[in-house]
Amino acid sequence: MKMKIEAPPHIKNLTPYVPGKPVQEVERELGLTNTVKMASNENPFGPSPKALEAGRRFLDNVHIYPEGSGLYLCQALSRHYGVAQDQVILGNGSVELIEIAAKALLVPGTNVVMSHGSFTMYRIATLAMNAEAREIPMANRTHDLEAMAKAVDSKTKMVLVANPNNPTGTYNSAATVEKLLEAVPDDVLVVIDEAYKEFVKAPDYRSADCLLGRHSNLLVLGTFAKAYGLAGLRVGYGFGHKELIAILHKARSPFNTSSIAQVAAIAALEDGDFVKMVAESNDREMKRVCAALSGMGFSFTPSVTNFLLVDVPMASSECYRKLLMEGVIIRPMEGWGFPNSIRVTLFTKEGNDRFLKALAKVTGR
Ligand SMILES: *Cc1c(COP(=O)(O)O)cnc(C)c1O
Repeated sequence: MKMKIEAPPHIKNLTPYVPGKPVQEVERELGLTNTVKMASNENPFGPSPKALEAGRRFLDNVHIYPEGSGLYLCQALSRHYGVAQDQVILGNGSVELIEIAAKALLVPGTNVVMSHGSFTMYRIATLAMNAEAREIPMANRTHDLEAMAKAVDSKTKMVLVANPNNPTGTYNSAATVEKLLEAVPDDVLVVIDEAYKEFVKAPDYRSADCLLGRHSNLLVLGTFAKAYGLAGLRVGYGFGHKELIAILHKARSPFNTSSIAQVAAIAALEDGDFVKMVAESNDREMKRVCAALSGMGFSFTPSVTNFLLVDVPMASSECYRKLLMEGVIIRPMEGWGFPNSIRVTLFTKEGNDRFLKALAKVTGR
């Protein structure tokens, strides 16, 4: 039977997001066991135990629709971060909030300013709205916020900045983010996506939520997917001016976060000890893995996150395939603009040692 539905060119030409390969799939395809997935910046310690328990307890209620806007989670976020409740919006992962913003603001002929070498979902969300993705080169694998501000023109609707950035692991200081907001006209939305903020120890880094009182064109994103270990539940949040949030609500589907995700996230938010433990382990392992990589003569981009962009002496995809055969799943970065680099998520000590050993083997070091 011939399928005759035709998508418009901007959809037809879209390359879908390529996620990290699941463990089960790799093991089935290659006949391996005991593989370790270090490909999606997931939490090696699993979910926050408190979140898990709250989610389990709530399972009996899944025949009931969730609270539409996630009122109780919005209240919890409002208290935790000190922003007003009407300045909070939830997303099915923070990625959905980028899509909601794109849907709400973009029409053909408009453009979005982003870095070349940032989160590939920014480009996809922009192109899906038939708008232009204006990709600005980075400086030292760090967003060039000045160049990004200069690239804004009368057709620019959004500026998208991951801070810290995925996949480079670099960050922009609070002072430079503030300058960006001062430079960008206030009818252009600036999205600061802070998916890894909980991991950052750099003293000159700060969440942009402290700028919400001064900039009505700011949307600050956070997620429960990384430090809180709830990637599979799909729950993220955005903070912005209440009238901006009201616009985003119009472009959101009614029950975009599940009831389980909402209760689990509320419990996770109260589990500060878990996040602290995760961040401290990450910090220790980051120092250890970096020292080991340097010792083996690898160059990598210094990272404030839970992942590292490592340069390899072969094509990224070749290194990926070779590491796969060793049972180590990482992410090749060709598609993100780094043809000779791999992105590896830090794990527990055992997982990281597996990676280091496998990398040494496949590169002959
Ligand atoms: C992981 C990640 C997110 C979070 O995605 P979720 O949709 O919340 O799972 C957002 N932005 C960046 C840059 C990320 O790396």
